[in-house]
Amino acid sequence: MPEELPLGVFGGTFDPVHVGHLRLAEEAADALGLAAVRWIPAGRPRHRDAPRVAAAHRLRMVELAVAGNPRFGLDAAEVDSGAASYTVPTLERLRAELGATRPLVLLLGADAYAGLPDWHRWREIFALAHVAVARRPGVAVDAAALPAELQTEERARRAPDDDPAALAAAPAGRILGFTTTPLAVSATQVRALLAAGRSARYLLPPAVIDYIALHHLYRSHDGS
Ligand code: ATP
Repeated sequence: MPEELPLGVFGGTFDPVHVGHLRLAEEAADALGLAAVRWIPAGRPRHRDAPRVAAAHRLRMVELAVAGNPRFGLDAAEVDSGAASYTVPTLERLRAELGATRPLVLLLGADAYAGLPDWHRWREIFALAHVAVARRPGVAVDAAALPAELQTEERARRAPDDDPAALAAAPAGRILGFTTTPLAVSATQVRALLAAGRSARYLLPPAVIDYIALHHLYRSHDGS
């Protein structure tokens, strides 16, 4: 049934959203047979520094970035809640909305994946969703370098990379990698360019570039 095709879930700070995020989601959809990818900007992320610009700006930039892609959708719930953002409650909410059988696939960059054991209630993720890991340039995929408890989960849950069949066969619980075009862009780099008065053109969608200019975002280190 088409409505039972796996749904990708892509959370992030998106401060700002850039082409690395967009290719990750687009290539995940192709490689993993996802019906769609739901983008979920964090309201107040708990496991990292405070975002540079307000949640409403980050949400709007993602909205502009995903516009026109029929496979991409925006989920404003974490931003709208105003509360600290945690992945497990978000996945529980999606489960309640979509039912118990639809495969959910949490999309992560390799750096985010390596930090998973620091996340609140992280082991519960596997009862709610599959985890698909993009190979991010410059970040080692050496399994032996992962935290020991994550290696244990991998041994029990690992599916072949780039294998949609493993995801479609169950609603949750597998871990696999997927191949993405190496794009060594980060939001940190984009913020630094903009703060230095340099161009971030071609690293961000044109509509996001225009939005940043219009609202004078990321111009300096003074919080503007
Ligand atoms: P920052 O530089 O502020 O840490 P970021 O560019 O890593 O930001 P996030 O919003 O923190 O962006 O990332 C959301 C997700 O996208 C994470 O899972 C991260 O690993 C992944 N990601 C970010 N940039 C890339 C990239 N260039 N290639 C692949 N994955 C990426």
